[in-house]
Amino acid sequence: MIHDFGCEAVICLDGKEPEFSEDSERQISEHSIDIRQERISRFVGEPRTQGGLEGLEFETGEFLPASHALAALGTKVNTELAEDLGVELDGGFVAVDSRAATNIPLVYAAGDITGGFNQAIVAAGQGAVAAIAACTDLRSSRQLA
Ligand SMILES: Cc1cc2nc3c(=O)[nH]c(=O)nc-3n(C[C@H](O)[C@H](O)[C@H](O)COP(=O)(O)OP(=O)(O)OC[C@H]3O[C@@H](n4cnc5c(N)ncnc54)[C@H](O)[C@@H]3O)c2cc1C
Repeated sequence: MIHDFGCEAVICLDGKEPEFSEDSERQISEHSIDIRQERISRFVGEPRTQGGLEGLEFETGEFLPASHALAALGTKVNTELAEDLGVELDGGFVAVDSRAATNIPLVYAAGDITGGFNQAIVAAGQGAVAAIAACTDLRSSRQLA
């Protein structure tokens, strides 16, 4: 995404193994983004001041010039409960239809667990869709009983 704004980005894993989603892997490959796995020993310059960062130094002694450093905390979806219920996943996320319904009757999912944009307003919107579908389905299942 940062590449789209005309900035050159390098992903530094600080000694960790890569854990990218399929979508992230695709974007990294499309933009030929460099990935550095070496441990970072220190930030060079004055990283806490505006424009003060000069770059970072790896434990190997190599210096990587950089004007900005963004910490990526990442997120991990917890699909354990859904999987216990027999809910189908798609690429590690809960698979839902346009009504936020899963493959299990009266089980719905919304938000980050369904993949797509990880944004609060998206999750809230999908939650509303799921709630309306749940009410509609519950009402019609009661009418059938
Ligand atoms: C650092 C950070 C910054 C962000 N900044 C923004 C931003 O600026 N703007 C924006 O729109 N979005 C932002 N997001 C994304 C936004 O927070 C999410 O898209 C949104 O919270 C998704 O809502 P959700 O309800 O799907 O999941 P969550 O908010 O993660 O809620 C899921 C809840 O379910 C609970 N849970 C999980 N498993 C179980 C279980 N088995 N039983 C019971 N409870 C369970 C969790 O503890 C959690 O409370 C940010 C996210 C992060 C991590």
